[in-house]
Amino acid sequence: MKNCPICHGKLEHKKEDTVYEYKGEKITISQPAEYCLSCSESFLSADDIKATKKDIVDFKRSVDHLLKTEEIKAIRKRLNLTQQEASKIFGGGIRSFYKYETGENNPHRSLDILLRLIDKKKIDLDDVLQVS
Ligand SMILES: [Zn+2]
Repeated sequence: MKNCPICHGKLEHKKEDTVYEYKGEKITISQPAEYCLSCSESFLSADDIKATKKDIVDFKRSVDHLLKTEEIKAIRKRLNLTQQEASKIFGGGIRSFYKYETGENNPHRSLDILLRLIDKKKIDLDDVLQVS
């Protein structure tokens, strides 16, 4: 077992309910980390951060009224597009939709609006293809 770099107390890898705040809104997430049993300081590895990244990104997106990771994926699937095809049509780089769907990157609000309008059949994908 490792020791705390601050107080040299024992560290334990476990999950603890952690409150995240964004623009005044709060969410409680079960955050894995090395927790110090003496001073209760926490230390997050890359894997610990990765474990809750999508939940935190989706929380921030819902506060900002942006499509969540799974919503973007669902719209893309309804349009019968692969991540690569969608990235090519809507821009943002060849891996843009992979990044939007994994929470690595957020789409701009303009793309968010466009995807919602296409999904609500207010705009036809064929019309988008004609002008893109
Ligand atoms: Zn400590």
